[in-house]
Amino acid sequence: MTRHHARDNNAEHQVVIVGAGPAGMMLAAELTLADIDVVVIERRPTPALESPRSRGLHARTIEVLDQRGIADRFIAAGTPMQVQAFAGIPLDISDFPTRHPYGLALLQSDFERIMADWIDELGVAVLRRRDVTGFEQHDDHVAVTCADGTALRAEYLVGCDGSRSVIRKTADIDFAGWDPTVCWIHTEVEMDAQPPFGLRGGGGIGPATAGRVGVTLAELDVDNRFSDPTLDDVRAALIHVDGTDYGARNPRFISRFTDMTRQAVTYRSGRVLIAGDAAHVHAPFGGQGLNLGVQDSVNLGWKLARVIRGTSPNTLLDTYEAERHPVAARVMRNTMAQRALQADDERTTALREIVVDLLALDDPRSQLAAMISGLDIHYGPDADHPMIGRRMPDLELTTATGTTRTYDLLHRADALLISLDPSAEPGHATGADRVRRIDATYTGTWELPVVGTTDPPTAVLVRPDGYVAWAVTANATDSDDGLADALSHWFGTANSLAGH
Ligand SMILES: Cc1cc2nc3c(=O)[nH]c(=O)nc-3n(C[C@H](O)[C@H](O)[C@H](O)COP(=O)(O)OP(=O)(O)OC[C@H]3O[C@@H](n4cnc5c(N)ncnc54)[C@H](O)[C@@H]3O)c2cc1C
Repeated sequence: MTRHHARDNNAEHQVVIVGAGPAGMMLAAELTLADIDVVVIERRPTPALESPRSRGLHARTIEVLDQRGIADRFIAAGTPMQVQAFAGIPLDISDFPTRHPYGLALLQSDFERIMADWIDELGVAVLRRRDVTGFEQHDDHVAVTCADGTALRAEYLVGCDGSRSVIRKTADIDFAGWDPTVCWIHTEVEMDAQPPFGLRGGGGIGPATAGRVGVTLAELDVDNRFSDPTLDDVRAALIHVDGTDYGARNPRFISRFTDMTRQAVTYRSGRVLIAGDAAHVHAPFGGQGLNLGVQDSVNLGWKLARVIRGTSPNTLLDTYEAERHPVAARVMRNTMAQRALQADDERTTALREIVVDLLALDDPRSQLAAMISGLDIHYGPDADHPMIGRRMPDLELTTATGTTRTYDLLHRADALLISLDPSAEPGHATGADRVRRIDATYTGTWELPVVGTTDPPTAVLVRPDGYVAWAVTANATDSDDGLADALSHWFGTANSLAGH
């Protein structure tokens, strides 16, 4: 399974990915698992990050990593806890039907270090210290250029190059949305005097690593974002909220971020695609950005691999935008709502009190928590069975060789046809030989967050990204009802079979 690619400037690859951040590394892994030759171009000399940025993973991201057999690495490095919150109001998911009913407190720097080790094990080539300056798109390839003169040629180019994406700009894809209304300054500093920890100044002050104090404070002037932040700016923000700068000194880093909320109007221009922050940016409320990017890549990887191999039609790539654009659009709306709830006036305080009361009730709490944790994602329209378009739960199955978990079966990113009723014999449908068939039994319940318990399917077709493409129950008149259509929609026609 593992491929070792030459670590040089080999100019031709099936896919060039720009950016070795969370989205780029996840996509590189997904493509490599599907045996696609990929190279990642990254301007940073090492995987180390200057500022921590994300401080956690949500439940669906932990599940996605579990589907690839690497969740334990992240769990061992972080702290499982109830990290979900809406406008700072905690949302508990410990009652959700998932093997991971929690989030993970984990710095982005640790997340990226573990991902970098994983893609290294997979043999992914990462060309560092290279700044991509642009590309030219041709009928059968994309020509990519770097500032140092490196020239690469690929069948597809994916921009995972963050919010200022050169790839998005060169592809002339509009980044539509809303300008920032606030700019935060963010640092970890040593202090002479100990400040009280807690929320204030549109942000907060709290403990940080190595005895430092973490400071995130809103600045008065949103145009500050155009200049590099200094220690004097940090001191001024502290004096503004607390009347003293506590002798702040020796910052580990100082950065700024805003609530700019923008989304690419399309995620694809011919042979060029974008994912992660290159496709969407928003305020970090609820800690959703990194999670979105990783899941963009898991959605895109198998589709791009199948189109490159010719086992699925080119139109499969369009389902990437169709499925992921609405998910990010919804996150943008919820972060804008969270921003609105942070205004510092009596009317907003009154509204916030009502939201706090509402979120103490089960239904509103689980609705919002399922959205923030990513567990309620539903691709496509409502279908015959509620599982279709939703995440496959991690069930414990009994097979002829023993017990296994559905997520264990997904480690190789295969498509699976799981037959749970030997008498129903699904799989006579045309194309069933295109996916890996598992015969198993399962006696537990089928339960989804928010949706609740569903009719137990007698067979399910699971996509490589862990979403259900088709399901049938014992009540269906034909056990293959709709299976042939689902197989040809997601996994190509009989004529386009090769290599799977
Ligand atoms: C203060 C803050 C707190 C946050 N907290 C959270 C949180 O709690 N949870 C969460 O999920 N998210 C959080 N986020 C968001 C999260 O950090 C981003 O969503 C995430 O990093 C996006 O990943 P990405 O891979 O899409 O882009 P990036 O992480 O931006 O990676 C892009 C990569 O591309 C490289 N690159 C860019 N241009 C080029 C080029 N031309 N040539 C070569 N390389 C290039 C960059 O060096 C970089 O390594 C936070 C963000 C901030 C600012």
